[in-house]
Amino acid sequence: MIARAAVLVLMLALAGGLFARRIGFLFRMVRLGRPVDRSGDLPTRLAREGSQVLGQRKLLQRLLPGLMHALIFWGFLVLLTTILEALGQAVSVDFALPLIGHAAWLGLVQDVFAAGVLVGLAIAAWIRLVQRPERFVGSHTVEAYRILGLILWIVVTLFGLRAARIADGLAATSTAWTPISTGLSHLFTWMGPGWQRFFVWAFLWAHLSLVLGFLVYLGYSKHLHILTSAVNVFLASTRPRGTLTPLKIDMDALEAGTQSLGAEKITDLTHKELLDLYACTECGRCQNACPAWNTGKPLSPKLLIMDLRDDLFREGADILRALREGGTHETRPLVPDVIDEDVVWACTTCGACMQECPVDIEHVDTIVDLRRYLVMGESRFPAEAGALLRNLENQQNPWGIAQSQRADWAEGLDVPLVDGAAPEYLYWVGCAGSFDDRAKKISRAVAELLQRAGVPFAILGPREACSGDPARRIGNEFLFQTLAEQNVETLNAAGVTKVIANCPHCFNTLRNEYPEYGGRYEVIHHTQLLEDLVRSGRLRPTEEVRTLLAYHDPCYLGRHNEIYDPPRDVLSRVPGVEQVEMPRHRERGMCCGAGGARMWMEERIGKRINDERMDEAASTGAGTVGVACPYCLIMLDDGARARGDEVEILDVAQVLRRALPDPAPAAAEPADLGQAH
Ligand code: SF4
Ligand code: SF4
Repeated sequence: MIARAAVLVLMLALAGGLFARRIGFLFRMVRLGRPVDRSGDLPTRLAREGSQVLGQRKLLQRLLPGLMHALIFWGFLVLLTTILEALGQAVSVDFALPLIGHAAWLGLVQDVFAAGVLVGLAIAAWIRLVQRPERFVGSHTVEAYRILGLILWIVVTLFGLRAARIADGLAATSTAWTPISTGLSHLFTWMGPGWQRFFVWAFLWAHLSLVLGFLVYLGYSKHLHILTSAVNVFLASTRPRGTLTPLKIDMDALEAGTQSLGAEKITDLTHKELLDLYACTECGRCQNACPAWNTGKPLSPKLLIMDLRDDLFREGADILRALREGGTHETRPLVPDVIDEDVVWACTTCGACMQECPVDIEHVDTIVDLRRYLVMGESRFPAEAGALLRNLENQQNPWGIAQSQRADWAEGLDVPLVDGAAPEYLYWVGCAGSFDDRAKKISRAVAELLQRAGVPFAILGPREACSGDPARRIGNEFLFQTLAEQNVETLNAAGVTKVIANCPHCFNTLRNEYPEYGGRYEVIHHTQLLEDLVRSGRLRPTEEVRTLLAYHDPCYLGRHNEIYDPPRDVLSRVPGVEQVEMPRHRERGMCCGAGGARMWMEERIGKRINDERMDEAASTGAGTVGVACPYCLIMLDDGARARGDEVEILDVAQVLRRALPDPAPAAAEPADLGQAH
């Protein structure tokens, strides 16, 4: 007994030492990054641990792979009890857990969940060997097999141990409650007691060696996620997904060289962005959902994370060594040495990757940090984006049209400008709705609907500057900050409290990002207000608008701010509108290609994203595509024209406007929007 205890202590010390050493190294590498505040919001964080980690909520959105993972994960939680039992039995063969060790239910739960792990492994093998989904392209598959193999041997030795113990008369619980282990015990019942005991010890030490070896191996493998994903989920941002982590620019720190503008090198990433690299399971769900990857661009959010992780492992040890020795280590630039420049610019910041990622990796923050350095640190960006930045700096809108023309869209509508104190609502029109001819029609429809419902509102007109969304998403945090501060000053001076925005990009920026700059307003999207107005009877759509309509979820309204129902609800109340869903809709809606300032960049590689989306819309047979975003309207309209389709792209407000009985303005637009193809 003493000898066995000594061996066990030796094994635990060795494995524990190696494990702690590796964890210490990994921890120090994360600490090389920039600090980021992820404190606070404890209830949300704990709830996420419950639903996402313990409940496997995100994974179970896809049934088969979700079930596979859940069976293995839940199985391992229960197997913690069998591991504790095995540790105790290594010293005293009769050991049982205190309090619950002899409970029949424990034996049953352990049997069932251990078998569940085997079922999970079988599903994993089926997925990887038979289904072979495209999402695994680029993942470390050999290592994944090694880990699955280790898990298999851990469970096999566990069942061997339990069966041999039952045969040897050492069962702690009633054998009637351990049907699988009892069934397997017949493999040993014909043997003599000496052999039975031999197998008890053989399986026990094999099991413990595998468990401890697995623990150590995890720290050195690319599949670190088993150790880090729960922490990563806990530290994930609790703000709406569309909110970027601000870059607090400190001029003194910049001059002293202690702060960098975004991520030039691996150590410029934040602690959370570096932890993300450990947490990636290489499952490829993000890659599968990425509109850039799916249209032939070089950007795969999974490969981006894997490449950055490889760089961290390549550079991290040298940096730490140099720091220990009081020196410095020359790290290479991430772009283009680790990440290709085309990868960085291909992102539409649609958030599909983050929506899918089971371990809450924040790809968009990382990509924007890479952009920030390129734009602010080196003035490097696609040539055509230069016009965007110049126009924003000089004219405060991406179109480069004089601000004095900002309210021209409202000509003849008698829309009031804010003069002194704002009325109940400030209608934030946005640059597209002010300057793009197609989007101006949305602004007019919204204004008319508000007037018809008697909603008191006014616009800022020439005093409204770009919200700063494209500046921030392209990486120019300075410019964003300037625009945000200017707008906040204007809005606060007018005493604005409620804002209606018809552009989801403005909506997201004003609602989620302006509070950092002192702008705290109740910001609603026009479809939310229209839903209220129709429900309360202040707007009564009575004219028939006959069409089959497919509603396209704008990323910054849907995924980024979880507003899916109001637009659909308004449309459902318009007589004659029959709705059909596109294959990718709601949380899984596909981007139109305009977000992340992509609206102002050429799409030179692969298929155009808006063409892909319009192909999908056309596959539904819809005669109308409904949108709730001026960017989506412009992009999808271009896509429809490229296809030569007669499909009409209309904002929800335009559809509702047509359904109101008002011969004067409505006569310009026919009520019958077209038929299904
Ligand atoms: S935000 Fe969208 S485009 Fe960018 S990497 Fe994620 S899925 Fe791809
Ligand atoms: S980033 Fe998330 S979704 Fe993408 S491969 Fe890694 S774990 Fe999977």
